[in-house]
Amino acid sequence: MGIATVNPATGETLKTFKPLTNEELEAKLALAASAFKSYRQTSIAQRSEWMNRAAEILESKQVEFAKIMTLEMGKTLKSAIAEAQKCAWVCRYYAENAAEFLKDVPSSTDASSSFVRYQPLGTILAVMPWNFPFWQVFRFAAPALMAANVGILKHASNVPQCALAIEAIFKEAGFPEGVFQSLLVGADRVESIINDERVKAATLTGSEPAGMSLAAAAGKQIKKTVLELGGSDPFIVTESADLEKAVTTAVTARMLNNGQSCIAAKRFIVLEAVADEFEKRLLAKYQALKVGDPMDENTDIGPLATPKILCNLDRQVQEAAASGGKILIGGKPLSDRPGNFYPPTIVANLPADCAIAKEEFFGPVALLFRAANLDEAIEIANSTNFGLGASAWTNDPQERDRLVNEIEAGAVFINGMVKSDPRLPFGGIKRSGYGRELGIQGIHEFVNIKTVWIA
Ligand code: NAP
Repeated sequence: MGIATVNPATGETLKTFKPLTNEELEAKLALAASAFKSYRQTSIAQRSEWMNRAAEILESKQVEFAKIMTLEMGKTLKSAIAEAQKCAWVCRYYAENAAEFLKDVPSSTDASSSFVRYQPLGTILAVMPWNFPFWQVFRFAAPALMAANVGILKHASNVPQCALAIEAIFKEAGFPEGVFQSLLVGADRVESIINDERVKAATLTGSEPAGMSLAAAAGKQIKKTVLELGGSDPFIVTESADLEKAVTTAVTARMLNNGQSCIAAKRFIVLEAVADEFEKRLLAKYQALKVGDPMDENTDIGPLATPKILCNLDRQVQEAAASGGKILIGGKPLSDRPGNFYPPTIVANLPADCAIAKEEFFGPVALLFRAANLDEAIEIANSTNFGLGASAWTNDPQERDRLVNEIEAGAVFINGMVKSDPRLPFGGIKRSGYGRELGIQGIHEFVNIKTVWIA
């Protein structure tokens, strides 16, 4: 497909972009390396000022940025506006807290003075997906730049205008030339970039195959990686839960971003005693959802980002039906219109151990499972290779403790939906990846944790 803006609501190609030539790429890598030399000498106060300015730009032009997101990947305009605001939040969070997170940490030893000092690594490569085209980038860039690293972004090929807009924000905010650059290149160029000795580490948010490929290339060069990969988050509902709150949140948690979120609740595991009622209420709420033009403020669900995602989701739902799943609503792409529209869909009664139940469904499709008791619910929850987030609904303290302790995931949210928050670390275990973004942990991923010992 190449690097292009294709409106997912109409299928129309609006703009195509030429990938960087090798010479252009070389010039950008050289610029990043030379920018780092002086940028690392800047004060945290100066970097905070620039980062706060980036936040102001994000807020003042939020509708403009949101329209680019919606146009390129189909999320509803209202959710795109919220995304721009959240990016401003993460910029301010690190502008305010980086000095504290990066200050020397003394330790009493046999030395007269010993401490840890955090120092930047240099050029960090970020390979990012289209699904939160601003947020994924800012949650990498805000801590990385505050730690005095410089960033190069290889964004997904379907969101080039977002990539260029983000580069322009950092420039306008006052960051020196070369501190943050977008590289318009395809995935086939990533390995050569990571092989370049001027690139010190990399982070990738995306699919398992992309993560494996980047980590393998980085491994050969002994370069650190952070991987934020897929998820098939469980959403467990017990008998003691507030059912109405759980069902309402279940819809939001599944439909976020037209169902294309790594931390969307994807598998609903409900205890038998409340399963009929949960199913009935979930179905009613699904029936009320409005699918349509993502620019329209009354729309709940816009199109999927690309025809390939639509095709894959369709294949998965057909496979789920063939494996014993019962389609309660939806189940087929909307063929009465152009664009990549897929309706809200519920698949019930799928055997939890069949192969398709363990895949990630990236779209507005809920898989509904029943469990005889909490043991079985936890077993089903842990039965995929993913381990990103989990949401569990209970008002029983003992159940809560078991869910917190026994669910295999990077995050467990009790009586709430899984969400990212600049103040809390974010990341997965198992095949959902490793490393953490956000919080104090996020800013420590791309620094040299230098031990200093003075006799
Ligand atoms: P994807 O195909 O892996 O693309 C993500 C990025 O990786 C894009 O920039 C893509 O470039 C690049 N890429 C693809 N193949 C590559 C390779 N072999 N080597 C290096 N880079 C490569 O991901 P997607 O399917 O579009 O995105 C959805 C996936 O991301 C889902 O699995 C979702 O769960 C996951 N995700 C995870 C998180 C998290 O925080 N854990 C957040 C959001 C999404 P091109 O566009 O040029 O191919």
